[in-house]
Amino acid sequence: MTGAIARLFDNLGGLDGRLLRDEPMARHTSWKAGGPAAIFFRPATIDGLTAALELAGEAGIPWLVVGAGSNLLVRDGGFPGLVACTRALDRLSWQDEDRVRAECGVALPKLARDSADRGLAGIESLVGIPGTLGAAVVINAGASGQEIGQTVRRARIWSRQGGSRWRERTELDFAYRRSSLTDREVVLEVELALRKRDPDRLLQAMTAALTARRKSQTVEGPNAGSVFRNPEGHRAWELIDRAGLRGCRIGGAMVSRVHCNFIVNLGGATATEIEQLIDLVSERVERQCGIRLLPEVKIVGRHKEDKPGEDRT
Ligand SMILES: Cc1cc2nc3c(=O)[nH]c(=O)nc-3n(C[C@H](O)[C@H](O)[C@H](O)COP(=O)(O)OP(=O)(O)OC[C@H]3O[C@@H](n4cnc5c(N)ncnc54)[C@H](O)[C@@H]3O)c2cc1C
Repeated sequence: MTGAIARLFDNLGGLDGRLLRDEPMARHTSWKAGGPAAIFFRPATIDGLTAALELAGEAGIPWLVVGAGSNLLVRDGGFPGLVACTRALDRLSWQDEDRVRAECGVALPKLARDSADRGLAGIESLVGIPGTLGAAVVINAGASGQEIGQTVRRARIWSRQGGSRWRERTELDFAYRRSSLTDREVVLEVELALRKRDPDRLLQAMTAALTARRKSQTVEGPNAGSVFRNPEGHRAWELIDRAGLRGCRIGGAMVSRVHCNFIVNLGGATATEIEQLIDLVSERVERQCGIRLLPEVKIVGRHKEDKPGEDRT
């Protein structure tokens, strides 16, 4: 695999973007934990992104697309292939009165603010979500009653088998924190249909969303937002609290005392400690409350002790 990685690295050198070997993913995730990506590539264009994924696919090397890393845990043994980061793919083009076409790496806070400045409503409550648009579409990210899926008109999706194709909203099956997209499909671009509204009202709504977030989410350290999905009819944080896990700690990872559905890195937490705490919370809540919590965060990569080829992605 090392030879194949070296060849892929050389081939990627012909594409426009930032290319790194053995790049610590702790630098690219909001948890500030996790091992290295064998190759880390931040393409400058969408075509560069798909070309890189094609090259990795042809070489039989695993690949992972990441945005801001705010919903992601990379294990301490790192990711044994190509990590393609979309953050430089952040072009926006405004179309008609109420439509915007945006590349996958656009930051949600910027998109929400720019839309509000133009008097366009629909995503103002998402202003505090620190992720990119592409990832938000995959998980149908949402806050305060708004979800990104409600505004998606269509999205351009790439897969190795199907190439790139626009899919209408109805084909994406948005539901609570999910869409029909699989982890072998990549969101390249998205077209949103927004609604005209008074910019001052939108500004007020954004300020209210940010103030509420500051109150409930000023936590003890780096984190990835809510770790678990809310099970139907329940709130994950309440179940975690009921199971007596507020402040529960493994090494440098702790269940936040401020918001029990957040796990914080108190400084120097390993991805293993964070994952062990996720498992412990899940098991204890099931034992105490009879409800299995499912992670909302994505966990990828190898444990430190894994041998090459033992990928747990
Ligand atoms: C403080 C804090 C608060 C948060 N609050 C909220 C909230 O209120 N609501 C909410 O929904 N989320 C929230 N989140 C979680 C997170 O910000 C969102 O899920 C966001 O959409 C993740 O975007 P990202 O770019 O960081 O994704 P990443 O963490 O980089 O990736 C997450 C997953 O998406 C995949 N992915 C990334 N880009 C693409 C792409 N272009 N195409 C296909 N797959 C892709 C990755 O492979 C990975 O599986 C919060 C996180 C933090 C740290």
